[in-house]
Amino acid sequence: MAYLNIDINVSKDTKLMLKEVEKFSMEVMRPAGIALDRLSDPADVIQKGSVLWDVFKGFREMDLHLLQIPKSLGGMAGDLDPMAAILMTEQLGYADAGLTISMGVSSLPFNAAAMFPSPVMQKLARDFCEDKTGSLIGCWAITEPDHGSDWSLGGNKPKCGPSVTAVLKGDEYIVNGEKSEWISNGTIATHAMLHVGLYPEKGMDGQGLAIIPLDLPGITRGKPLDKMGQRPLNQGSIIFQDAKIHKKYMAVPNPDFLKATAGRGLANVNGGMGIVFAGLAKAAYDEAYRYARKRVQGGVRLFEHKNIKLKLMQMFTQVEAARANARRMAMYNLANPMSPSVVHAVAAKCLSTETATNVASDAMQIFGGYGLAKEYPIEKMFRDARASMIEDGVNEALAIKATEFM
Ligand SMILES: Cc1cc2nc3c(=O)[nH]c(=O)nc-3n(C[C@H](O)[C@H](O)[C@H](O)COP(=O)(O)OP(=O)(O)OC[C@H]3O[C@@H](n4cnc5c(N)ncnc54)[C@H](O)[C@@H]3O)c2cc1C
Repeated sequence: MAYLNIDINVSKDTKLMLKEVEKFSMEVMRPAGIALDRLSDPADVIQKGSVLWDVFKGFREMDLHLLQIPKSLGGMAGDLDPMAAILMTEQLGYADAGLTISMGVSSLPFNAAAMFPSPVMQKLARDFCEDKTGSLIGCWAITEPDHGSDWSLGGNKPKCGPSVTAVLKGDEYIVNGEKSEWISNGTIATHAMLHVGLYPEKGMDGQGLAIIPLDLPGITRGKPLDKMGQRPLNQGSIIFQDAKIHKKYMAVPNPDFLKATAGRGLANVNGGMGIVFAGLAKAAYDEAYRYARKRVQGGVRLFEHKNIKLKLMQMFTQVEAARANARRMAMYNLANPMSPSVVHAVAAKCLSTETATNVASDAMQIFGGYGLAKEYPIEKMFRDARASMIEDGVNEALAIKATEFM
């Protein structure tokens, strides 16, 4: 039995586009992700000639980086049927979640820049749209060695304030401190969306947001991080030592404005995670189903055993619940970009990441010993899924934060 997709009203154009994305994701991304995952030194993931760069190039050539930037700047926002954006994002997550996050994060500073009217921000967004090779790569620099969940839960407590601070002197901010080794694309990014403390006495409520090039004097990087899951996703620290950043790069110097609009950022990022990891959950289910149809034990295929049938049906139900929930949330939030539902986005992030982890774990059980073997993709899917429950905010901290928007 093939997996029946029950999305209705998907246009002909969307189906065609989805076919292209499926081809790229399964022929380029999936094998690249497996190859990069097996490299023992994370520095090799980003070497010249690495298949990582084929993924970046392919992604840009297909214009997948344009989806959130307005047409006036060279982007495609509003052009695409929202369902097309959802299905394509899910498919990328299906192929390789870590690489999908890398691609998504690489757009973040430029998508954000497009929202600000100043010439420097508009130019950044325009240059990004024109980049078909992957020469411009973004990151979102928020977590610090001493502040992880504090960014979700900190509030106005000075003890929980940012360690990376920016002090205005004339036309320049002097930036000092370190963003942690968990910054996705941290060692390869050319630009960062950087959260900095402007008023330490206000804790996290005193932060500003800068969108900066990372080739300025005083900015250095750490080593690529070695970790358990999403190994193709480059991560590493960014260190600021008296880095001088012109005030034109401080996109949001007013902490109250940043606080008032924080919900939009939370909804955007969590919503994306919800779709990507629903895709990974489906991928793990598909592997388990295929294996159960093939493997013979007790003289019959695994699928003939009642316990396996029940387990597969339970997994299928969980996957469909996560996919349906993510679609419903994304359709609403894409239609309401200025007032999205944060609660639904966080719920989707938590449900999809937990579903992906549980389904990948169940799939491993169905594979028996082979579930642990590198020969099959399940152990990688499990590791990739497990990381997602911590990624972009620990699920528990996000859930507590989301209640502020209820
Ligand atoms: C794959 C991946 C990608 C990532 N990408 C990025 C990125 O691009 N940019 C970026 O800036 N960061 C990124 N991160 C970092 C991520 O956002 C942090 O790991 C996360 O916010 C948690 O912070 P922490 O690891 O310091 O854990 P901690 O905050 O130390 O939390 C440890 C535990 O304590 C609990 N806890 C913490 N504080 C409280 C509290 N006040 N009350 C109750 N319980 C609490 C948490 O729920 C958690 O279980 C990424 C992480 C991963 C795994």
